[in-house]
Amino acid sequence: MIQTFMSNSHDSNSYVIADGEEGVMIDAGINPLHHLEKIAEINIEIKLLISTHCHYDHAAGNSVVVEKTSAGVAVHELDAEYMEKAEKEHVLTHLFGAGYKGVRVDQRLKDGDVIEIAGVKLEVIHTPGHTEGSICLYEPQSKALFSGDTVFADGIGRTDLPGGNWNDIGNSLKRLISLNETRGIDKIYPGHGGLGSGDNIERIYNFYSNDDKDSCFG
Ligand SMILES: [Zn+2]
Ligand SMILES: [Zn+2]
Repeated sequence: MIQTFMSNSHDSNSYVIADGEEGVMIDAGINPLHHLEKIAEINIEIKLLISTHCHYDHAAGNSVVVEKTSAGVAVHELDAEYMEKAEKEHVLTHLFGAGYKGVRVDQRLKDGDVIEIAGVKLEVIHTPGHTEGSICLYEPQSKALFSGDTVFADGIGRTDLPGGNWNDIGNSLKRLISLNETRGIDKIYPGHGGLGSGDNIERIYNFYSNDDKDSCFG
């Protein structure tokens, strides 16, 4: 079961994947209190919180989730220290202008890791470009891709922020295209906007790789 919390503001989307009474949260967003209430209503206990990257709009609410649940926190190793220390240029508190409490990272993820917890299996794909430690998470059973700010239903994440890199995001998209070709991506659950389809990634890649990089904005 995938519970979606779609944002209509600058907050990120938030997702909970659950099997029975336990689940995994992907991105807490800025204020996850109402998500946690909803999750409690449907009797799901969050065992692990995974951040797709360290940015404020995805991870400022991590401290709330840690406080209110027994969940551990996982993020890619290259974004872990920024998140723990709440380094402002990297977590972007200077853009969003609000607080971000650093939280301890329990699991430093790397490419190829397979997370198996609470009956949920997620494969970690390191997709740098938006940040150094950006990841996508692939759920093989439903062929779902949780794509953070790497790729949206109709675009890609910014590469002009600290740690961003245009060539890296291009290579990351190429990896996702090949994942779609070999194993299939039925649905994309992005960090912002509505849900997308795996078949869109190639079109998005072609569009941006033929375009001026300054227009890349997601
Ligand atoms: Zn971001
Ligand atoms: Zn974002």
